[in-house]
Amino acid sequence: MEQQEKPSNPVYNRKDSGKVELPDAEWKKILSPEVYYIARQKGTERPWTSRFEHSKEVGTYYCAACGNALFRSDTKFDSGCGWPSFYEPISKGAIIYAPDHSHGMTRTEVMCGRCKAHLGHVFEDGPPPTGLRYCINGVILDFEKAKEAEKKAGYSPDKQ
Ligand SMILES: [Zn+2]
Repeated sequence: MEQQEKPSNPVYNRKDSGKVELPDAEWKKILSPEVYYIARQKGTERPWTSRFEHSKEVGTYYCAACGNALFRSDTKFDSGCGWPSFYEPISKGAIIYAPDHSHGMTRTEVMCGRCKAHLGHVFEDGPPPTGLRYCINGVILDFEKAKEAEKKAGYSPDKQ
């Protein structure tokens, strides 16, 4: 799973941080129906269905739509909410925020900082040090395990 090739998605790139803007019709062509539903239609996967929810593997979580690095595994925690949860994004620019008043609630939506894919929401009931809970749809995450050498050296992806 980690080394999945995505030849049908020309914008998927883990090294390029340039913004991606595509018309909806293009996204529909290059994303799987599941990813498209979450990313572009702001869908929500059923709780307790993500294979990442209880994963403890060491590595990096990327945006499944564009390859942007989003979260490190060491900021992941068991929130019990039914979706993969993190207390901090990998970097400030990794994620963008927008107020969301849908479904009669006031929430903060989180989106990919590169392609604006809908990821989930952030709530203020997370653990220290941030007190935040990024509640993320597992469908929109791509995970890559850290290599053994990286683990030993104190894993820090994307340090340039
Ligand atoms: Zn993205």
